[in-house]
Amino acid sequence: MTARILDGKAVAQQIRNELAARIEAVKARLGRPPALKLVLVGDDPASQVYVRSKLKTAEDEGMAVTLEHLPASATLKETLAVVQRCNADPNVDGILVQSPLPKAMGPNAEREVFDTIDPEKDVDGFSPLSAGRLVQNRDGFAPCTPAGVIELLVRANIAMEGQHAVVIGRSDIVGKPMAMLLLHRNATVTICHSKTRDLPSVAREADILVAAIGRPAFVTPAFVKPGAVVIDVGINSITKLEDAQRIFAAKPERIAAFQRRGSVLVGDVHPDAAEKAGAITPVPGGVGPLTIAMLMANTVKAAERRN
Ligand code: NAP
Repeated sequence: MTARILDGKAVAQQIRNELAARIEAVKARLGRPPALKLVLVGDDPASQVYVRSKLKTAEDEGMAVTLEHLPASATLKETLAVVQRCNADPNVDGILVQSPLPKAMGPNAEREVFDTIDPEKDVDGFSPLSAGRLVQNRDGFAPCTPAGVIELLVRANIAMEGQHAVVIGRSDIVGKPMAMLLLHRNATVTICHSKTRDLPSVAREADILVAAIGRPAFVTPAFVKPGAVVIDVGINSITKLEDAQRIFAAKPERIAAFQRRGSVLVGDVHPDAAEKAGAITPVPGGVGPLTIAMLMANTVKAAERRN
């Protein structure tokens, strides 16, 4: 059996199309489009790619998006000052500070930033108030990646109620909110992590298996119950030919892509899992585009909530 491919790119475009009328309504009410402030600290290449992509998408949507780029030498105090300025600015609806922050800022820097962002402008959904609202299933801002996964499941007509969902990963930005959102959809949820015993057999219990681990091709077919829905959140860049050849042994076109570009993307799920799953998200083109679409949706929502 080869799995049905869950096309995240198409669903993301659908979500974005649906925002157009809401953006027009915000313009009519506030006299300006929804406004997003992106804050990037330092020169991490992956972060620059992510921020550029968010900037371009917001521009394409007709939003007022601006980027504040601080040098890698910026202090936490300076970064918090930018956040506080955006909190006070009536012409900013949503604030996103790109992770990771430079290591020199210390281990608690991101938490301090999330503690400082006005919860009404917290379009990433990482502030403690947003996390609390999510746990209590109240209205608020859910983190974009897991919220995008739920949109994908809903629009693909995949039932969650009564299903056993297994989430591998317990980060504050993906694993934990993913589990909460599935729970609120009446799935029975198991959360796994690096200390879980016999992970493949726990994963094989899943009707819906979500991998948010950060390890290339970690979830092999041995983790997958035949016919399960597999959601691959991972985005890993493979830069060694022998790794590409091992992971994509059955996909010569991906090895050819590696040879052209010197790298290739792979998720946390091994490509061979598609032979056992009933439905699966591709990497790229699965969860990634949904994350950005949900950032746009959260920004529109933040603008709609303003008095
Ligand atoms: P993270 O903060 O590093 O968390 C990884 C989680 O995986 C942790 O809970 C960790 O367990 C667990 N884990 C690590 N090794 C494991 C193992 N051998 N067995 C079982 N569990 C293991 O990562 P994250 O921020 O959640 O991101 C996860 C992945 O999603 C990454 O590949 C990231 O690039 C990707 N991502 C994609 C998007 C998107 O838009 N598609 C957005 C965000 C993240 P412990 O807690 O026990 O350490």
